[in-house]
Amino acid sequence: MFNQDTISRFQNIETPFYYYNMEVLGQTLAACHAASSKYGFHVHYAMKANFNPKVLEMIQSFDFGADCVSGGEVMAAIEHGFGKEKVVFAGVGKSDKEINAALDVDIFCFNVESVQELVIINDLAKAKNKTAGVAIRINPNVDAHTHHYITTGLDENKFGINTWQLGDVAETLRGCKNLQFLGIHFHIGSQITDLEVYRSLCIRINEMQDWFEDRGFKVKVLNAGGGLGVDYYNPDTNTIANFEGYFKVFKDFLNVKPGQEVHFELGRALVAQCASLISRVLYVKNGQKKNFLVLDAGMTELMRPMLYQAYHEVENISRQWAVGSGQLSSPGVGRSESSEDKPTHPSPLTTHYDVVGPICESTDCFRKDVPLPESFRGDLIAVRTAGAYGEVMASGYNLRTKAESVYSE
Ligand SMILES: *Cc1c(COP(=O)(O)O)cnc(C)c1O
Repeated sequence: MFNQDTISRFQNIETPFYYYNMEVLGQTLAACHAASSKYGFHVHYAMKANFNPKVLEMIQSFDFGADCVSGGEVMAAIEHGFGKEKVVFAGVGKSDKEINAALDVDIFCFNVESVQELVIINDLAKAKNKTAGVAIRINPNVDAHTHHYITTGLDENKFGINTWQLGDVAETLRGCKNLQFLGIHFHIGSQITDLEVYRSLCIRINEMQDWFEDRGFKVKVLNAGGGLGVDYYNPDTNTIANFEGYFKVFKDFLNVKPGQEVHFELGRALVAQCASLISRVLYVKNGQKKNFLVLDAGMTELMRPMLYQAYHEVENISRQWAVGSGQLSSPGVGRSESSEDKPTHPSPLTTHYDVVGPICESTDCFRKDVPLPESFRGDLIAVRTAGAYGEVMASGYNLRTKAESVYSE
């Protein structure tokens, strides 16, 4: 839902654009902070979900750490004021250049994804006469019950080190004098809403830390990664992710020993609900079998539906009060006499549209068969819950210009 003032403001902004509701972001961050600090847990924000400068600024102000998956993200985290002692760096393919850059700024921890990578980090640290903190990213073979495109913790995934390779890891660690073993790391997937999955993860983490301690390694850091899901179907009534329930699972089932730290890496749950992609209807194509709304935004602005069949609420915010009530109170439409395309009376009719973008790809479709009030050229369409993995995946395909960001305050 957008209030009338906000919609009036939208009328004067060139579409498409990302609209950031900073109040929603602040409330989400506060909720996460409260729920995690209750147990003394450390939260790192997964930068890849959204690295919009204003968003980063606000996240940093809550004193979260940063979880990075590239050298560029490590640099951006430092530039935006995240403490280097709170920066962790994961990624299955860290280049030498990226490792060196992270060594130069003395990050807290490399989350290492192969035995070979351990050796390389050790060599590069040695050349700089430094010691690199490392955690072993273990593939726990836990099924995240999420979409198979975004599950990462199964044996068949490219991420992490499988348990049968841990003997090799232990031996390598003993020989690497420029590495400091900090602990173990896990990340099993994204958009996980079934908290049972995290209970299974806790059990695996307990087993794995015992494995290392039995072999004489002190496990200081237990890093459970991220993946907590949000409600893409109810952005207005269920805005804040279930941080309370999430952290409580770890409090209840993780075997935390004295001196140990528990770390998390949340991305989506912190930023997904704070943004919407706002676009305009360019054309309405009525076919015999299908009606299309052709928007001025497409996969170049928000790729999730096309990349992994993701669901987003799609709303015609120019007519959001028209359905059901038969009353038209939307500011954009009330003053629309000048446009011959728009009726001066509301249409309470619900029509089903395939909501598509302008890009020259058949997959450039946000959603099929969306029930919407009868819609017209110039109507504003909001694609909700677009704050995570939205703007960051924008591309210049078709030589499109980058959509602007607009903030609520
Ligand atoms: C992407 C990623 C995260 C964050 O995942 P979300 O689903 O956005 O919470 C955390 N850790 C690692 C290693 C990641 O790659």
